[in-house]
Amino acid sequence: MKSYRKELWFNTTTRRAYINITQEVNSCLRESGIKEGIALVNAMHITSSVFINDDESGLHRDFEEWLEKLAPHEPHSHQYSHNVGEDNADAHLKRQIMGREAVVAITDGKLDLGTWEQIFYGEFDGMRKKRVLVKIIGQ
Ligand code: ZN
Repeated sequence: MKSYRKELWFNTTTRRAYINITQEVNSCLRESGIKEGIALVNAMHITSSVFINDDESGLHRDFEEWLEKLAPHEPHSHQYSHNVGEDNADAHLKRQIMGREAVVAITDGKLDLGTWEQIFYGEFDGMRKKRVLVKIIGQ
């Protein structure tokens, strides 16, 4: 069995962002040389997510509005017990609902994704360096 590990780094220019990382994960898969197996892609921070969905800008605006309704960033001052000396309670909650990781099957050397499935990095407390782990195992 082969094993491959790589960290992808992000430093978004905005507090929140949705970045399609499918091509980066594909590059990792090519580098790994693995043809059959499983790829795990996970955020290494508790205020960002990795998830799979459609690469459609309207949907990304919908995510943004929906998450802001569920867990508004502002005002920081009240509503969140976590925001004592912090301002990112909303980002922890957004991460929880959007998930920590994606797991994708590898078949014939390719990510075995559904027709419209793309892998995203969801940033909820950005403008600083953060990482995503790509772990691929198989043969
Ligand atoms: Zn926090």
